[in-house]
Amino acid sequence: MTDCNQTLFDRAAQVIPGGVNSPVRAFRAVGGTPRFVQRAQGAYFWDANGQKYIDYIGSWGPMILGHGHPAVLEAVQKAALDGFSFGAPTEREIELAEEILKHVPSMEMVRLVSSGTEAGMSALRLARGATGRTKFIKFEGCYHGHADALLVKAGSGLATFGNPTSAGVPPEVVRDTLVLEYNNIQQLEEAFALHGKELACVMIEPIAGNMNFVRASVPFMTRCRELCTQHGALLVFDEVMSGFRVALGSAQSVYAQLIPGFKPDMTVLGKVIGGGMPLAAFGGPREIMRQLAPTGPVYQAGTLSGNPVATACGLATLREIAKPGFWDALSARTRSLVDGLKGAAGYAGVPFSADCQGGMFGFFLLPELPQNYAKVMTSDSPKFNKLFHGLLDGGVYIAPALYEAGFVSAAHTDADIAETVRVAADVFKLL
Ligand SMILES: *Cc1c(COP(=O)(O)O)cnc(C)c1O
Repeated sequence: MTDCNQTLFDRAAQVIPGGVNSPVRAFRAVGGTPRFVQRAQGAYFWDANGQKYIDYIGSWGPMILGHGHPAVLEAVQKAALDGFSFGAPTEREIELAEEILKHVPSMEMVRLVSSGTEAGMSALRLARGATGRTKFIKFEGCYHGHADALLVKAGSGLATFGNPTSAGVPPEVVRDTLVLEYNNIQQLEEAFALHGKELACVMIEPIAGNMNFVRASVPFMTRCRELCTQHGALLVFDEVMSGFRVALGSAQSVYAQLIPGFKPDMTVLGKVIGGGMPLAAFGGPREIMRQLAPTGPVYQAGTLSGNPVATACGLATLREIAKPGFWDALSARTRSLVDGLKGAAGYAGVPFSADCQGGMFGFFLLPELPQNYAKVMTSDSPKFNKLFHGLLDGGVYIAPALYEAGFVSAAHTDADIAETVRVAADVFKLL
């Protein structure tokens, strides 16, 4: 039997670098042939061979309602009939902005853009413009898109700044990026002691989803907030992944419940707010957001920003997830997956730990939950790859790399979860 995925992959590799338009899709970490998706519905997609999979990626987060939700589909079809793009403002952009601000009250204004990368890089520029400072802190293992200044790994010490993680990024562009270990309070304090007066911002994924699933500890987050306030640096939450995914109020609402009065200064959003269309945003207090063009000196623009079809998709998605009972049901479903996997791994004697919040989860072939990137990367990678391919062969599609998080949608049923745990239990026995 010919493998249509392989045929497509070979053909793609002739015209698209690596055969993919975003590197992790190429299955380099786990080996094997990427699945080319033919169509998707609800919690499933079908590949080029017609093979069906339970989808735990959901476009890396956006498909929180599952694929092809009727209300979203209707909104998108209607919007498309009215026109694809105008390069002039529309009422729906206001509606989406209002809907976002209603649920994330730390933001008083929001600017819509087309990708998380664009939102992250614009938020950084605004933080620098608003504070008049250049240096900033990010953390190892957090991903904020592929803008030059953000593609950085730690330098040799706190006094030295970062090194580029990509060819083509000039060292001088990352000279002002300080990369620290996630959840390391001592390093954070030392960095502020050394550079506090020059820091524009601390940019962080509050619940990190790009080193699998790692939460910022409450003491660490508390210290981030205190030090930023003390030194006049902005605390920028990159919630491109966690936003409207871990809770309706995003990860910041989770921390606000644990730390009285807590809120970030700026927020970066993407993924879920577009419901699967290219749409992202960044926002914050009025006085900061007014620094943006056309009211302020910080330039930012986009031909397709606030695209009418994308905003229709995002708005319909956000309205669905704001309905009563949505989050209890989604959280319970995700929790039952995580508990089921834990039970199956435990039964097979496989070292395993897992965590989840709302519709986002992560698991590790480690006895305890890791607190930072270095710990995540101590995971047994050959074992993970065996698990990945075992699940894939059993019709369960998880992220093809051990440093990625997973996503459950409202379309996943109890039967899907049970089937997933059953397949996983068989694979665990072989690890
Ligand atoms: C996905 C992601 C981005 C980048 O978003 P793109 O739309 O892929 O450019 C930025 N930050 C975080 C936390 C993300 O998960």
